[in-house]
Amino acid sequence: MELRTLFAERFKLPVVLENDANAAGLGEALFGAGRAADSLLYVNVGTGVGGAVIIKGRIHRGAHSSAGEIGHVVVKPDGPTCTCGKRGCVEALASGDAIGRRARERMAADASAATVLRKVPPAELTGCVVGMAAARGDALARQLMTEAATWLGMAIAGAANVIDPEVVVIGGGVAETGEPFLVPLQEAFKRYAVAPLSASTPVVAAELGYNAGVVGAAAVAFVELGIVKPNSSM
Ligand SMILES: [Zn+2]
Repeated sequence: MELRTLFAERFKLPVVLENDANAAGLGEALFGAGRAADSLLYVNVGTGVGGAVIIKGRIHRGAHSSAGEIGHVVVKPDGPTCTCGKRGCVEALASGDAIGRRARERMAADASAATVLRKVPPAELTGCVVGMAAARGDALARQLMTEAATWLGMAIAGAANVIDPEVVVIGGGVAETGEPFLVPLQEAFKRYAVAPLSASTPVVAAELGYNAGVVGAAAVAFVELGIVKPNSSM
């Protein structure tokens, strides 16, 4: 039985089902950083990298429900193997898991590099931890965040060249670490996006923070059940 049907029968309520990145993207489009925009590219950088394309208040799904899967854009063909089986996907280079793995590799390769990250148990070395160390000025952490943000910026620029969104919104736990990730990401976007996007398309932090999933799920329900008309102002 479909999950949706199971829940609908159990709770005797209408049920809508959506993936987390699409929901968060719609949430940002209706209630967050993209609420003034007609079109939005949302990118979530957490343990993985996900995304969504929102056009006129609607999730654009594509022919195979794969629209927005920016995590599996290849930016380094000889890069590490991704969970999808390909090599050099942006998820294998810029996700929270990837940043943690790269931190462990870098410290193992250069035992003399002084970094606060050595105090963190390897299993707890995530992208968020590296981001926090970067925000406090740790040189290796800043370098790792810059590298990850640059790979992601390259993928976002490519996607933006095709979609030409009014705004690019970056959310998720890694993005929450702020300046050490967002600034090099914005610089890479300017470097790789076509003009006039490179100069005029804002790449901004999400506004809904850790509530993005919950607010996004509500946004999906509002739109699907007709409580909010797509593209109507809130
Ligand atoms: Zn992949």
